[in-house]
Amino acid sequence: MSSIFHLYQLQKIDSSLMANTTRLESIETSLSNDTTVKSIKNETDKLSEELSVLRIEMNRIEDNLLNRRNKLEQSESSLYSGTIKNPKELQDLQKEIAFIQSNIADLEDEQLELMVKIESLEEALALSLDRLKTAELEQLNINALLVEEKRELITIHQHLFKERDLVVSQVGDDLFNLYDALRSKKKGIAVSKIEDQMCSVCGSTLTPAECQSAKSRIDIISCPTCGRILYAD
Ligand SMILES: [Zn+2]
Repeated sequence: MSSIFHLYQLQKIDSSLMANTTRLESIETSLSNDTTVKSIKNETDKLSEELSVLRIEMNRIEDNLLNRRNKLEQSESSLYSGTIKNPKELQDLQKEIAFIQSNIADLEDEQLELMVKIESLEEALALSLDRLKTAELEQLNINALLVEEKRELITIHQHLFKERDLVVSQVGDDLFNLYDALRSKKKGIAVSKIEDQMCSVCGSTLTPAECQSAKSRIDIISCPTCGRILYAD
C-alpha cells in the first residue's frame, strides 16, 4: 500500500503546518506584547510622579521660607528702628525674632533633605529614560525581524497548503478519513516513522515482524502502544 508513503508525506506537511502556526502565534504575541518596554515605561512614569510630588513640596518650602524671611526682616527692622521703647514689647519682639529664626532653620533643613532626595530621583529618572530609549530601539529591531520572519512563514504556509492538496489527492478517501480521525485523537500526529526498531513518537520497541510488515506497506500496521500508523523507509 504505497498510499502509506503519501500518508507519511501528509503527516510531515501537517506537522510543519502545526509548527508554523505555533511560531506565527508566538510572533503575534511578541509583536503585541512588549513587556520589557512596558515595565521600564511603568518605572519611568512612577519616578516622574514621585519627582513631581517632591517638587511641589519643594515649592511649598520655598514659599514658606520667603514668607518667614520677609517676616524676619520686618521684625528686625522694627527692633532696630528705635521706635519701640517699651521693654516688654522689645522682649516680645526679640522672642518673636528667635522663633522665626528657628522656623527658618527647620525649613532650611527640610529644604536640604528634599534637595538630596530630588537629586537622587532625577538621576534615577535619567537612567530609566536611557534604558527606555534603548529598550524601545531594541524592540523596534526585534519587531522588524519578527515581521520579516512572519512574512516568510506565511509564504511557506501557502506552499505547504498547495503541497498538502496534492498529497491528499493521492491518498484514498478511507485512508485519509482514518488519518484525520487519528490525528484529532493523537495530538495531531497520526503517522509515526520507525527508527531503530522503535516507534519514533512514543518510543516503544517494535518486533522485527512488525517492522517487516510496516516496511512491506501491504497492510496498515499500527503501533501496539500508541496506536499510530507505522511507516518504515
Ligand atoms: Zn507508538
